[in-house]
Amino acid sequence: MPIAKTHPALANFTVIDDCLQIGGMPLTELAARVGQTPFYAYDRRLLDTRVADLRATLPNQIAIHYALKANPMPALVAHMAGLVDGMDIASAGELKIALDAGVPASEISFAGPGKQIPELRAAIAAGITINLESFLELDRVSEISQDLGIAARVAVRINPDFELKASGMKMGGGPKVFGVDAEAVPELLLRLGQREHHFAGFHIYTGSQNLRAEAICEAQAKSFQLAYRLAEHAPSPLRQLNIGGGFGIPYFPGEEPIDLAPIAEGLTEHLQTARKRLGETEIIIELGRYLVGEAGIYAAEVVDRKQSRGHVFVVTNGGLHHHLAASGNFGQVLRKNYPVVLGNRVLAGEREQATVTGPLCTPLDLLAEKVEIARAEPGDLVVVFQSGAYGYSASPRGFLSHPEPLEVLV
Ligand SMILES: *Cc1c(COP(=O)(O)O)cnc(C)c1O
Repeated sequence: MPIAKTHPALANFTVIDDCLQIGGMPLTELAARVGQTPFYAYDRRLLDTRVADLRATLPNQIAIHYALKANPMPALVAHMAGLVDGMDIASAGELKIALDAGVPASEISFAGPGKQIPELRAAIAAGITINLESFLELDRVSEISQDLGIAARVAVRINPDFELKASGMKMGGGPKVFGVDAEAVPELLLRLGQREHHFAGFHIYTGSQNLRAEAICEAQAKSFQLAYRLAEHAPSPLRQLNIGGGFGIPYFPGEEPIDLAPIAEGLTEHLQTARKRLGETEIIIELGRYLVGEAGIYAAEVVDRKQSRGHVFVVTNGGLHHHLAASGNFGQVLRKNYPVVLGNRVLAGEREQATVTGPLCTPLDLLAEKVEIARAEPGDLVVVFQSGAYGYSASPRGFLSHPEPLEVLV
């Protein structure tokens, strides 16, 4: 039975005998197989269908990159390597994971402010594309290239002169630490052209977690315009134009999945114009959470149930230290609940309103506040959906020195 009633994104999962199925097995069995709680589980089949659906919707010529930041678990990255056209990394640590996963260096690009010299050396030695984020970074890349005797592959990350509206996180427009201001890019390109580098193209990243297709369409249209304008200053034709991503997933009550149809339509038009204005440039979108977020769950075990002045608290062995985002402390302004169920009693049984917490001595340690959920007893499994991105790696796992959660790809 699908459980779409609870949350649109849960339509991906099935329930048999009132137990959530993940990776084709009941959650309770998976918990026994994992051997401990809490754990994260990522479902291969859901990763496959997400990428396949996206490809079926977007024009064929669009290259899809995976941004490792969303979930760098090595087994998951290796699985994604077989599905996507490239990967975007943001540290030397992520570079190692991508290379270990078998991603060809020519399909890896490196963005992020403050790249350190050892990271730049590793990137140049590996032969990946470096998205330049400052003039100083260009100088460092040139020096290291000379030192290693390897011509670096570089693209320019542009801080655009516009914003992605209605975004969970804005990463371009106005004063930003990311990229080089659009108005300074001609000067950077001039300097770049005087050095022995392979010029790859542009990277324009405007923001994250956006559910509004019109906002994405508008930002994409402006990104193409900006690229056409700045391409006139480039030392050679653009081989690649990375127009960012920003596709969000629904987390909170009332949110709906993003409608990709208008985005696909817009891209079809832009591709035609880009062919005339830029030539054979590969157009890339880079996505993190959209590709992996809905494929993952976090499961924690109920340790205690308490009543306090008429309020039920379900205390688990997981929480903020494992899943900062679900606790509401990873960039949320107003705390809202991620979709949560009792995994071994999803729909049936007595129901109640409860607040699900972790074991940490801080009121911030919430997994769900005043949710309707089956009556929970010690040993039951609380499941947090939409946990495939910005979970394990984005959480302060050392805080209060509790055991680490495990991660499994099923
Ligand atoms: C964070 C980030 C991404 C991934 O963002 P999602 O919201 O997970 O899609 C992609 N590209 C860059 C440059 C980023 O900083």
